Amino acid sequence: MKLTEPEHVRPEHGLAAQAVQPVICYPADGLQPVDLAAYRAARAGWKLQERVLVPPREARSFAVSAGCFFRICSIEGPQVGDLNLWAAGDLEEHFFSGKTRALHGTHLSTGDRMWSNLPNLRMMATITEDTLDWYGFDAFGASVHDVIGTRCDPYTHNLLSGGQYHQCCHSNLARALADHMGVPAQVAEAHVHDVLNVFMCTGFSRDTGQYFMKASPVRPGDYLELFAEIDLLGAISACPGGDCSTVHSSDQAACHPLLVEVYQPLAPPEGWVPAGANGYDRSHGR
Ligand SMILES: [Zn+2]
Repeated sequence: MKLTEPEHVRPEHGLAAQAVQPVICYPADGLQPVDLAAYRAARAGWKLQERVLVPPREARSFAVSAGCFFRICSIEGPQVGDLNLWAAGDLEEHFFSGKTRALHGTHLSTGDRMWSNLPNLRMMATITEDTLDWYGFDAFGASVHDVIGTRCDPYTHNLLSGGQYHQCCHSNLARALADHMGVPAQVAEAHVHDVLNVFMCTGFSRDTGQYFMKASPVRPGDYLELFAEIDLLGAISACPGGDCSTVHSSDQAACHPLLVEVYQPLAPPEGWVPAGANGYDRSHGR
């Protein structure tokens, strides 16, 4: 916990230091541009390949081949989903929330990409439509689909409140992956990673910089559509926080199912090739 009053006086250069203009750490214009028109043209005549229903306070896995689309859909009522992505066939390569945040900002929307962890750092998926893009950033600095939270988990819950709660997104994702792998949840757990918080409305409080949540604006009919840049295994948890307006890590909130739809286009987007390996040679100067 930070002190409410600083212990140290501002030095002589302090005011000037605070007035320095910030610079963007990773200007995204160096990245391969997103040809949204080409992605969207590939939807024409696509086939619904699979529908996966995710029950409330549970998670389910799903596979998406490179060149296919998937939609995470709100049905029945406002509900937040915690999304994990792995490279199909190599669970060591998975979504890298931290670098995705550094590249695209605290919240993702249309045209942003989900990147994989080091030493891979290649695009896993591209967001091709976000029906909640109208929300933008509100007066509290909140927005939708964050990569700043991690996932609700029973360890943090135990530290803060004690007790054993088994329906946190971390455990839900662990069970879903365990079912897919045919291993115990404790083994699968090691592959669960920081998520994309689909439909969740979050920010950092201006005064204390603390992570906050507020009722998600998502309603049945809303969806987040992504294009798979590589063969993917995904898993998504219908968070026990429901719309995350009050509490999570308990059975108190009203929860709803989520639906994942996988679509196969007739042909991949024009000019598209699956994401290749990162160009760094990995010699690290040795
Ligand atoms: Zn959760």
